[in-house]
Amino acid sequence: MPKVAPFHSEKESHHHDNSKCGPGSAILPVNRRPGTGGKPLCKDCERLDREGK
Ligand SMILES: [Zn+2]
Repeated sequence: MPKVAPFHSEKESHHHDNSKCGPGSAILPVNRRPGTGGKPLCKDCERLDREGK
């Protein structure tokens, strides 16, 4: 399962925790930060996590 440690982009208002997430994987390394940033989970990651992908 590609669930990973939480990360977020300083340009976005949500965080990601699934390596299959398209928007999450499109974050540029320069904008990528570890942790949730205190932001809610991305809807795509939520769905992928729920489906066990
Ligand atoms: Zn995501």
